[in-house]
Amino acid sequence: MLTLRQLFLANNAQTTNFPLLLEFERAEGVYLYDKDNKPYIDLIAGIGVSNTGHGHPYVIEAIKTQLDKYLHLMVYGEYVQSPQVKLAEKLVSLLPDTLQSIYFVNSGAEAVEGAMKLAKRYTDRREVLACYDSYHGSTQGALSIMGNEEYKQAYRPLLPGTGFIRFNNVDDLKLITTQTACVVIETVQGEAGIRVPDITYMQALNARCQQTGTLLVLDEIQAAMGRTGKLFAFEHYGIVPDILVLAKALGGGMPLGAFIASNQIMDALKENPMLGHITTFGGHPVCCAAGLAALEVILNEQLIATVGEKEALFRELLIHPAIKQVRGKGLMLAAEFESFDLNKKIIDRCISNGVITDWFLHCSNSMRIAPPLVITAEQIEQACSVIIEAVEYFA
Ligand code: PLP
Repeated sequence: MLTLRQLFLANNAQTTNFPLLLEFERAEGVYLYDKDNKPYIDLIAGIGVSNTGHGHPYVIEAIKTQLDKYLHLMVYGEYVQSPQVKLAEKLVSLLPDTLQSIYFVNSGAEAVEGAMKLAKRYTDRREVLACYDSYHGSTQGALSIMGNEEYKQAYRPLLPGTGFIRFNNVDDLKLITTQTACVVIETVQGEAGIRVPDITYMQALNARCQQTGTLLVLDEIQAAMGRTGKLFAFEHYGIVPDILVLAKALGGGMPLGAFIASNQIMDALKENPMLGHITTFGGHPVCCAAGLAALEVILNEQLIATVGEKEALFRELLIHPAIKQVRGKGLMLAAEFESFDLNKKIIDRCISNGVITDWFLHCSNSMRIAPPLVITAEQIEQACSVIIEAVEYFA
């Protein structure tokens, strides 16, 4: 009989020739457990998803309650489904006044697609600008604005009318013109290896968009829901996007994305033609119920209040001559080594020693540190001692 791993390799599509092949039986809090019940500290939270920790009882309860009521009823935007309504109401209460219309979708990439379509419709312009080293998803529209040619060239032709500016570079803001429908930018760049922009840059970007009538689309798929020490990362910058894009932690471990705008902007999807974006499963009631519960956990357990001190503890414990830099904001961090080779060896040893981490799509010499926000000081100390042991072993 084939093992689960053999079946996985035989029947489940692979996207690299070197999948991690870790096999877990269950997950709780910051821990993943393998079949021998060995615990692993999850320092990547399923890539920015499990902000409230794995299997939070309040989130699980909300999912079970909704399961007993109904699953899918109808394509998005027709029936009044209470989980969607309640999650939207809660999000709107926490967002600035101009972000009051929420379109729920299934994933981050779909939310980015929706945002780009909406910006084109609203402005009646065709050009979309994004940043070098960005990652906004893997569908063809989102791929078109990925700032890394290596992953794109095999899929051309992609969307026409896209262009790129340097992240955190004020000079390039002049490339935003009255022809530009929108600028899509991560408030904190994730797959670039966690790059935090300057306040002056974000404010200049916002001003340039306003000056040219260009919509500012902030992709906070990785950075929102408390990860950077604010519920939404744009709150650090004193600006408000025209369209905010969320996913990942939004669904509390269930698949959910959203693009959010003013009613005035969102209304562009209603006419000429109507049905500007259609999704069957977007805003699935179980996902919205999980999302609302996760948001309530973040607020009620005051998870955001401790993000800053947890960041400080990581920074204090990850001091070593071989760690060139710890970059980032809150619990969205990157530890940089001199090469991918060294980083990979350290990561592999960390995983064998019970700490899960990885590297970034566009930054292979840096290690991802983005645990569930519920991680305790003791767990941070434990994780960092495993990392430092691995660093000393190889460096
Ligand atoms: N945008 C950012 C900043 C991301 O990090 C990701 C995924 O990693 C996406 C968009 C795409 O999200 P999804 O994988 O849900 O399509």
